[in-house]
Amino acid sequence: MWIDTHCHLGAAEFSGEQASVASEAARQQVEWIVIPAVERANFGVVASHAAQLPNCTYALGIHPLYVPQADVSDLLALRAAIVSAMADPRFVAIGEIGLDFFVLGMEQGPLREKQEYFYVEQLKLAREFALPVLLHVRRSQDILLKHLRRIKVAGGIAHAFNGSFQQAESFVRLGFRLGFGGAMTFTRALQIRRLAAELPIAALVLETDAPDMSPSWLHPKKNSPHEIPRIGAALAELRGMTVTELARVTSANARAALPRLAALR
Ligand code: ZN
Repeated sequence: MWIDTHCHLGAAEFSGEQASVASEAARQQVEWIVIPAVERANFGVVASHAAQLPNCTYALGIHPLYVPQADVSDLLALRAAIVSAMADPRFVAIGEIGLDFFVLGMEQGPLREKQEYFYVEQLKLAREFALPVLLHVRRSQDILLKHLRRIKVAGGIAHAFNGSFQQAESFVRLGFRLGFGGAMTFTRALQIRRLAAELPIAALVLETDAPDMSPSWLHPKKNSPHEIPRIGAALAELRGMTVTELARVTSANARAALPRLAALR
């Protein structure tokens, strides 16, 4: 059985087909899908998908690319949503939060400061509620790590990880697993494939980031959580493991990263 630790089933691309997408994933042995929120307007959406779909869980947070249009009242709304979600077993993490210094205009100036402010405030919420976090990491590894060393959270997952081995080890030392998905299925993605092949297997979890980050066989069509077994098979090949063993270990890693998901059923 597999776990997709990062899937935006709440995105417009899946509008009206969430139930069929989730059940196709279940048919392909994807036992659990984690749906991160991206903005305040999305909190209720991800929670209701998780309530209606038997193999879905959710996280609550404000994504760095949605920070420009967010304001401080959204952080208050997030805190209120977390308080009520703590009674919901399908609520498993704070996310998606982080920093994106790749998108033009976000890498410096007031927008960068606002991103850092929202990231730090959301880390404090994760610490307050002892919840793991789902991190968005894009050209921002070292600043993300700087705040994680200061604000101790219950680990989590650095999603779509792409950095150096040293940065990977720093996340792991802080209790994080690293998410790998479609990007490692491209033979030209040399660094990501080296990380996926050589990092300790205990550090790795699988994800689709659907509808984005399609694997090589789908690109540029939209990604889906039922691709997880084939993405997992690609990782098994990189690591010289059997697919069955790879599924078992990465699912155990996902449960270790997300204790509330591990407690389900
Ligand atoms: Zn995401």
